[in-house]
Amino acid sequence: MNTTIKKANLQQRDKAVNWHPYTQMKTAGEAIPIVRGKGVYLYDHDGNTYIDAVSSWWVTLHGHSHPYIAQRVSEQLHTLEQVIFAGFTHEPAIQLSENLLKLLPEGQQKVFYSDNGSTAVEVALKMCIQYAHNREKKKTKILAFKNAYHGDTFGAMSVSGKSFWTKPFESMLFEVIFIDIPNAGNIESLQQQIKDLAGELACFIFEPLVQGAAGMLMYEAKDLDRLMKFCREQNILMIQDEVFTGFGRTGKLFATDHLMEKPDIMCFSKGLTGGTMPMGITTCTNEIYNAFLSEDRHKTLFHGHSFTANPLACAAALASMELLLNEETRKNIERITRQHSAFTKVLESVPQVEHIRQIGTILAFDFKTGQGTSYFNETGKKLYNDFLQRGIIMRPLGNVVYLVPPYCITAEELDFVYQTIMDVLAQYQV
Ligand SMILES: *Cc1c(COP(=O)(O)O)cnc(C)c1O
Repeated sequence: MNTTIKKANLQQRDKAVNWHPYTQMKTAGEAIPIVRGKGVYLYDHDGNTYIDAVSSWWVTLHGHSHPYIAQRVSEQLHTLEQVIFAGFTHEPAIQLSENLLKLLPEGQQKVFYSDNGSTAVEVALKMCIQYAHNREKKKTKILAFKNAYHGDTFGAMSVSGKSFWTKPFESMLFEVIFIDIPNAGNIESLQQQIKDLAGELACFIFEPLVQGAAGMLMYEAKDLDRLMKFCREQNILMIQDEVFTGFGRTGKLFATDHLMEKPDIMCFSKGLTGGTMPMGITTCTNEIYNAFLSEDRHKTLFHGHSFTANPLACAAALASMELLLNEETRKNIERITRQHSAFTKVLESVPQVEHIRQIGTILAFDFKTGQGTSYFNETGKKLYNDFLQRGIIMRPLGNVVYLVPPYCITAEELDFVYQTIMDVLAQYQV
């Protein structure tokens, strides 16, 4: 069959049966059928090639269809594909927990598995609420940042900033107190707000240094450190959501490596398996873990998913973390960081651009549209198509243009992405 006809056929079949995420199906264009991925490239049905500059929604670390990860998953698939994790265990899960904990702050001592970022957050919230409950403390309120994003399940939505994403469900979300992200000027006022509530707060949940889905909003480690220190003094448990920032994105292995203060609980997903398989992890201190130990069965953490600690996902994560710790990957992360940093200087002289920001391999800027910043800003859609036509997958958040490339992107490929950004921006007058 002629490939163009086959592609149209696939698109028709897709539309007939599939409901895509974050997509208005009435007005969305046809989904592009991807047939293959290799390294930084995705290949569509017509033989077009795309650079995946957003790591397929921020998950891909070492490139698509990585042969080493594929091999390890394949071996695992022929050995043990899945086993119930209540009453049973397996070496991949034990090894992964050991390897991960070694890389985390020493306070992190126990690993709880689930299968995505939202569930990692749900588990973290339940740990904090039940921690208070098991110790017969009445602490049920939660503190979070305005503009936060922690996922799409109900608990995760509750602690995410109010937006049109959460609007239809607002009446069903639990009570959360939202504060501004810290800066040198507002820290005292934030401390005062926290102090007034401290006795009732079960926990504080935050995305460290970068608020991803809100539009790659960045804030300073020293300001977060001051806020965390204060929460520590007030005995408020801290959940650090590293679902996006984990595994090298910020230039260090984890965002926590930029910080002096350490959280009680951490959440991981996205890059955990190198973007190969779904998996979520919530880690915690022994202090929290111990509060669930009891002769009284009511103190158990009654939570678990069918695919908890799935051996295939564990194998993928083990392989991906090995690659991440390679000298070559570390050098790539450093090079991307340097290249991004040089490109921010170039962007400074572009009149269509403002609020240029970067941390490690994450680069973002606002495209000046005169319409203000909004996810519904139509310019984002136009830019998306401009980049796609030029062979690059970028997915602006409204008018926020950002790059989160896989670490295998070469210097030349990244330069091509920068040049394309310049070409696309030049088409728009301000
Ligand atoms: C993406 C994201 C989540 C949710 O992860 P899913 O796997 O999409 O459920 C949670 N927290 C942060 C910071 C994220 O970026």
